Amino acid sequence: MTRMLIVGPPGSGKGTQAARISERLGIVAISTGDIFRANVKAETPLGVEAKQYMDAGDYVPDSVTNRMVRSRLQEPDVQDGFLLDGYPRTIAQVEELDDILASTDQQLDAVLQLTADDDELVSRLLGRAAEDGRTDDTEEVIRHRLNLYHEKTEVVVAKYAERGIVAKVDGIGPVDDVTERIMAVLKDAQ
Ligand code: ADP
Repeated sequence: MTRMLIVGPPGSGKGTQAARISERLGIVAISTGDIFRANVKAETPLGVEAKQYMDAGDYVPDSVTNRMVRSRLQEPDVQDGFLLDGYPRTIAQVEELDDILASTDQQLDAVLQLTADDDELVSRLLGRAAEDGRTDDTEEVIRHRLNLYHEKTEVVVAKYAERGIVAKVDGIGPVDDVTERIMAVLKDAQ
């Protein structure tokens, strides 16, 4: 049974690696970004609300995000473990997740931190923008998302580091190599 988070700046490859870890470990990957994008596409009330923040590269308000994650973590498929991708990103979200897990006597096993420097991230994200045209992948919005990560999400990692559960992995290099590095640190952490 594994309950994990994957944390990293935009463009660090979180989503790609989350899908691979989820397959290898047989746990469900939950990406808050994907859930928001699906809601935007389907024009649900949640999507309509989230879109304005996402397009500007801002975080969707904690109250909205927390409610969505709380409800997702009550579904039966996550009772045997999960990998959260892109949540928590703020201290308020850390507190919410602590509360959700405590209410069912669960705790996190590991926080995987993927690292890459800003210049590499900007060039990856601009490349992705050219490929699949995400509306939040313009250079100005990318820089803003990176700044938000430094401002709001690095403290989240620090908080988990105090608990001694952070495993840091270099996200630069071929995707397969990064996956192998991740699997190796997870094995060591057990
Ligand atoms: P990235 O990590 O590249 O920014 P994601 O797909 O993880 O991409 O997220 C896309 C957008 O969805 C974010 O910029 C933000 O607007 C919103 N979002 C995703 N997760 C959260 C969260 N935990 N809290 C607030 N907003 C979020």
